Order: sequence, then structure tokens, then C-alpha cells
Amino acid sequence: MNRDALYTRLINTLRRVWRGGRDLETDRYIAVATLREIAALTATSHDIAEQLAKTVAELERLPPSERDRRQQVERIVSRLKSIQPHLGIGNDGAEIGKLNSALGERRAGRQTASRKPKPPAIVHPLPPDAAASNLPRVGPSVAKLLDQLIHGKVEPTRIVTIEDVLRIAPRRYIDYSNLTKIGEMLSPVGDVTIEGEIVDIREQYGRSRPFTLARLSDGTGTLRLVWFSTFITKQLAEGDRIYASGTIQGGYNGLEIVSPEWEPADGPNLTTKRIAPVYPLTKGLYQKTMRAITRSALDATRSKLVDWLAEAKPYLDEGLDLPAIDVAYERLHYPETMDEVTASKRRLQFENLFLLQLGLVHRKQTVQASPGQPFTVNRDVLTRFTETLPFTLTGAQRRVIGEIMADVRKPSPMTRLLQGDVGSGKTAVAAVLALVANDNSKQTAFMAPTELLAEQHERSLERLYAELPEADRPAIALLTGSTRAKRRREIDADLSAGEIDILVGTHALVQDAVTFHDLALAIVDEQHRFGVRQRALLAQKANGVQPHMLSMTATPIPRTLNLVLSGDLDVSIMDELPKGRIPIETRLYRKAERGDAYRLVREQVERGCQVFVICPLVEESDTIEAKAAVEEAQRLKDEVFPDLRIDVVHGKMASKKKDEVMTSFRDHEFDILVSTSVIEVGIDIPNATVMMIEGAERFGLSQLHQFRGRVGRGDAQSYCVLLADEATAGGDARLETMVATNDGFVLAEKDLELRGPGDFMGTRQSGLPELGWLEGGFDTRLIEIARAAAERLLAADPEIDIRRFPRLKPRLQQYWATAPVIDTSKS
Ligand code: ADP
Ligand code: MG
Repeated sequence: MNRDALYTRLINTLRRVWRGGRDLETDRYIAVATLREIAALTATSHDIAEQLAKTVAELERLPPSERDRRQQVERIVSRLKSIQPHLGIGNDGAEIGKLNSALGERRAGRQTASRKPKPPAIVHPLPPDAAASNLPRVGPSVAKLLDQLIHGKVEPTRIVTIEDVLRIAPRRYIDYSNLTKIGEMLSPVGDVTIEGEIVDIREQYGRSRPFTLARLSDGTGTLRLVWFSTFITKQLAEGDRIYASGTIQGGYNGLEIVSPEWEPADGPNLTTKRIAPVYPLTKGLYQKTMRAITRSALDATRSKLVDWLAEAKPYLDEGLDLPAIDVAYERLHYPETMDEVTASKRRLQFENLFLLQLGLVHRKQTVQASPGQPFTVNRDVLTRFTETLPFTLTGAQRRVIGEIMADVRKPSPMTRLLQGDVGSGKTAVAAVLALVANDNSKQTAFMAPTELLAEQHERSLERLYAELPEADRPAIALLTGSTRAKRRREIDADLSAGEIDILVGTHALVQDAVTFHDLALAIVDEQHRFGVRQRALLAQKANGVQPHMLSMTATPIPRTLNLVLSGDLDVSIMDELPKGRIPIETRLYRKAERGDAYRLVREQVERGCQVFVICPLVEESDTIEAKAAVEEAQRLKDEVFPDLRIDVVHGKMASKKKDEVMTSFRDHEFDILVSTSVIEVGIDIPNATVMMIEGAERFGLSQLHQFRGRVGRGDAQSYCVLLADEATAGGDARLETMVATNDGFVLAEKDLELRGPGDFMGTRQSGLPELGWLEGGFDTRLIEIARAAAERLLAADPEIDIRRFPRLKPRLQQYWATAPVIDTSKS
């Protein structure tokens, strides 16, 4: 809009202000905004600028009575008329003369200037599950922004509730509770709040961007306030009493606050004179708006929040001392002390953990109360077997076998998770168990996530059972997606006739056509790679009776997190490697030492060994990651090892192709396998002695450890080579820990400590809704406390009777209906 058009708009607006009526306030703001725009477009003298500023100030505080207001507007208009020539406006001013006529009734322009802080709206009580759009200031567009903020994306059908808003935890807090007198501050004192009056406010148009200067007086002195915009002059004027908060700085011009936060002195304090919440934001959503929204969300729900946890009180620890729900929300957003924040978070974290544990313990108890197929454990068979093995079992293997045997003897089904570091010998434990099933004339299903792993397990079992007397030896078959139709039919027939004792395979095992004669044991390797559904389908193959279930994983999880991730299972841990293994040597090389790393690779290949090269992690894109791996393979071929055989595998390949490459690597058809981070865990290639990881600082400890576990499976010394591009504080700590220890459980604890539970578990497989609560200062002991409380409650009332728990029970059901399923596949 040019100046003439603005001027016309200004006059029209002033005309409406003069006349008064319903839109008076809006019109007044528009007039102010238009004046500002005109000023911004005009190179005026200081004098004219003062006149404009004065005009704005007068418009800001129009007298309440109609007569006085009209007189004021008339004065303003005559002033405008007099300065009009200095504003570079072509109009002759005739318009002004028509002020009192009813001409030119035009709709008001955009409401750009109506941003003056509104008085707090009265909030009516609302239930927490009401839509947030019931709150003042939450129109459709703000509701969308909230959805974006909470979920990371907008879904038009999703309704953001008031409770969702209450659960937007402040990212941090600023302490503005220090209310100080200007005269008492001799030097900068940090974050403070000053109560005072604006004695002067003006816009400044320098060579750089315009800014606003104000002076605040509190009777003991004055302080400069600086804003790097002029918008503020639409909201504040001389004579306004405010609280101003910010960091006191000692500038050239004396004490000042740059970009202060402020609120009217008579309004509610959401920011100033208190500990102010600082919310995460999204584009278009402002801190001030967020504060106003959470304030009204709190006010609306205060009397409506249901404190379901109170019903569980008799089962909670005496010393737990959690605040009531309304108090917890209030203090999370508007605390008086930081201790209140800690206590509130604790309460809210506890809620989730308690619901989670109630569900998990209940699920566990349900399984344990259901009928199973108890095995008879024949010691002689076990002894005969272990005597034929080419090695003696480790202490950990013996202990875990003991735990498993105790389970399978019981009349209820086993649901056990075996966690053992790579190479700890989980397959041998599974073999012992399958043998016991066989001795009980029962069948075993052994499921692995890839064809290659299934094939590997089948071979391992054949080898492990090789020395058994004919009569004891189970009949094993392999069923995968590549099994030919003819062979499939044979397997189907033999299986249902009970002539196959152990069926090893991929998820092909859960297909409809697969019918067991008498399945009583299901073993699932790398269980996190399967969904809950696939495991349930496998269990259903057992003629209506839940089979014993042994899940295995090579991912060590800190003990406390096991209660979260596998809280419905019994967990066995195998934390000991077979004796005689040569520990893997881990070396850390910086960018400049790359040559040393390549020398090691060449030396090992010349000895007849093989090498893995892992390419850097690209978080955003599998495609880029795949491309980078292909390029890296080419580069190594062209520039570094032209005489060596190199191939590549990545996540964008079809799984059949992936398996082909892995198989030919296993068969030593080439020397160096370049891959992205996707390559399979559990792959047994004893001849591989070097694991070289590019961009190692980008991986988490657990993942680095998984990579490392792919070497060191043979008799030769193996190496894990960490190549770090950049030194980062977190990265270095991780890499040094890698060099220092080979123990997966130690690393997992360290990883948890370094990254916090959210990152540690990864968002997708966390199974923890609203992990946000867990960030920062999370006390893992709370998990154990929640576990114990859940166990006590369920011991007293296994079905959680609705009459006893009228609030808790629906909440629990709602939680489990919306919670992400525990341990879904990790990708
Ligand atoms: P993982 O736990 O990673 O699945 P595996 O079961 O594949 O480990 O075992 C790794 C290797 O160690 C296999 O070759 C297996 O035969 C061997 N092994 C298992 N138990 C022992 C033991 N107690 N002593 C020596 N070697 C063992
Ligand atoms: Mg394994």
C-alpha cells in the first residue's frame, strides 16, 4: 500500500473511531497500525516523528466518554492535517474536512493491529478430554499449530484435547521471580523483574532495522528497555504500568534490558515476576500465546481433573509422596520453585510407568495362570548331550539353562527373554531346550528374522546334535520363503505327521498352511525384529495351548529398562563369553590416521581374512545412505584396494539380493564387504577379522557394539576400527568407552547414562508413550517403584475390579488402547 492509500485508510478509520460503535477498539488499533506504517514509509524529521508518536499515544488512550473521545479525534485529525505535507502525501487534505460526514463507509482493513494484550478471558470449566479449541485463543489455526507441536505433523481429523495441552511440558524455565528496584542495582544482576511506569517510548529508525527504546521508571531510578522491532509501540505507551523481565545488562547507556518480556502490572503474571515456563514452539506459535493457552487450560480443567492415582494409594510406597494431579499440572507449568517442577514431573512420569507396569504385570500373570504343557526334564538326556559338545558350557549358559528348565516344568507356559551378548552362545542354550522338548515328544518352532540367519541356525543345530546317539537326535527341517514348492509339501506333510521335530525358518513359519502335529515350544531369535502379531501367530500353531516361548536377543538392555521394554516377560541374562575367545581389539583412528586403518585392512586380507566396512549413518534417508555405500565401495576399489575383491550391501536392496551378497561373503567369494548400518545382526562369518566403522561418532554405543560383535567369532585376533571424522564431546566419550570395554551390558548402562532413556530406546521401539516426560533428570528407580506398586495392587485384585477402581480402570484401558505396542520391530 502506498502512503496515499494508507492515509485514506487512516482517515476512514478515524472517522469510524469518531463515530464509535461496536468495533471501536478494532478501529482504534487499525488507526494506530496505519499511522505506524505511514511513519515507517516516511523519512521524517525528528519533530514530525515526535508528533506522530504523540498521536499514537493519544490514540492509545482515548477518553472513555463519547464527547471527550470525539474532541480528541478531532484534535488528532487537525494535527495530521498540519503535518500532512511533511508526510509526502499528495492528497490535499480535503478528506479530513469530511470527517463528520457519513461518506465512504468502508469495511475495516485487516486487523493487523489488534494484537494488544487482551485482558484474560474468563475460562469456563471444561473436562480435560474436551477439544483444546474450546479454550480462548485456540481457533482452528492455533489448534493445527498445537497438533504440529505435539505430534510433529498435522492430521486434520485429529482433535487436540486440553489434556494434550497440559502435557506439553516446558522445555526449560526462566527465573524472573527476583523483583528488584532499579535504584538498588548498581551493576548487572542477571535475570530480574522490575515493576515500573513507561515514562518514554519511541521508535528509532537508524541505518539498520528499526527498533524501539523505552524508559521505565520505578521511583528509584530508570532503566532502558530495547526491542528490535517497533511492534511494541502498538501495545505500550507512556504512562503504562508494567512488569518488565529480562537480563540486566550494563550498556553504554547505563543499565538496560534488551528484548524484555513484559506484562501489564495489573494483569495475571504468566511470564514476569515469576518462574516462567519456556515451551517448545513451532513456526507461527509464540511463547506468549503458549503461556496464555496453558494458563487457560489449567484454569478450565482445575476442578475437572480426575485423580485416578489416588485410588491406588494403598499400594503405593509410603514415601513416594506425589502431588495431586491438579497441583502437578499447575506446578509443571507455573511453579513457584524448581523443586515443585521436579515433584510434578515425578508424579506425571510415575503415572505412565504405573499404567505401563499394571498392564505388563497383568499380562504376565494372565499367561502364567493359563494352562501350559509341562515338560519332564530328563537329566540323562542333558548330560549325554553336553558330553558330546566340543566345548564345555559357560557358567552363564548353565545358569540360564537352569532358569529355563525350572520354567518348562511348570504347568503354565514359559515366557522368557534371553539376552546375551553376541557370541555368548545363545544357540546352544536353545538347542538344549529343543532337545528337552523332543525328549517329551513335542515339536519346536525356531523362528529367525532372515533366511540367512534361519539357515545358519539350522546348520548350527545339525552340528550341535551331530554326535548324539541316533535315537536322541531330533529331525530338523528348514522352511523359508525360498523353499521350493515340492519341498514345502514334504515339510507340511512330515510336520503334521510329527516326523519333523524342529522346524527352523523365517516368518514363513506362521503361514496358514504350516500345521504342527504337537507344537509345545517356540523359539524366536532376535525377537525385536518381529511384531507382537507374528509371535502371537506362532504361538497359535500350538493346538490351542500356549507353547513355551523363548525369545532371544543380542541387544543388551540395562536392567531397569528391561522392566519397561520386556516387563511382561521373565528375563535371563547371559553376560559371559565362552572361555578362550581372543578379545576383540578396538582401535580409534582420527581422520588423519586413515592410512593406518587401511594398512591393517590390507594386512588382514593378505592373511586370508575378511573385512566389514560400515558407512556413516545418514539419519534422514536410506536412499542417500545406500548411495553413499555404493560410492564408498567404488572408491575403495578404484583408489585404495584395486587388487582386492569388494562388494556392497545396503538397505535399499531386496532381501533376496541382500542374502545373496551375504552368502557369497560368507563363502569368501570376496574380501571386503561395504555396507550401510542395516546389515544383519547374528551373522556368523568366523573368517571376518576386521570391522571398520566410518563416521563412528555418529552411532550410539549399543549399535557400535552390535557391529563389533560381527567379528571375533573365529580363532584369530579380530579388530574393531573406529574412524572418527570430527571430534564431538558426546562422540568422543562414546568412542573411548568402546575402546575401554567389550562388555555389552556395561556399554548399555553407559549408553543409557549418556543419552537418556528416550534416545536409548529409540522412538519407534520404546513402547513408552510420551517419552518426553522421561527426558532430563529421569530417575530409573521410579520404574522399579512403579513395578512393585503394580505387583502389590494386582496381588490384591488381579482383575482390577471396576467397583474398587472406578477411575483407575478406565484410565488403564484407555492407556493400553492408545499406547504403542511394546517392542514392535525396530526396522
Ligand atoms: P550368539 O549368542 O551370538 O547367538 P552363538 O550361539 O552363535 O552366539 O555362538 C557363537 C559361537 O560360540 C558358536 O560357534 C558356538 O558354537 C560357540 N559356543 C557356544 N557356546 C560355547 C561355549 N560354552 N564354549 C565355546 N564355544 C561356544
Ligand atoms: Mg545368535
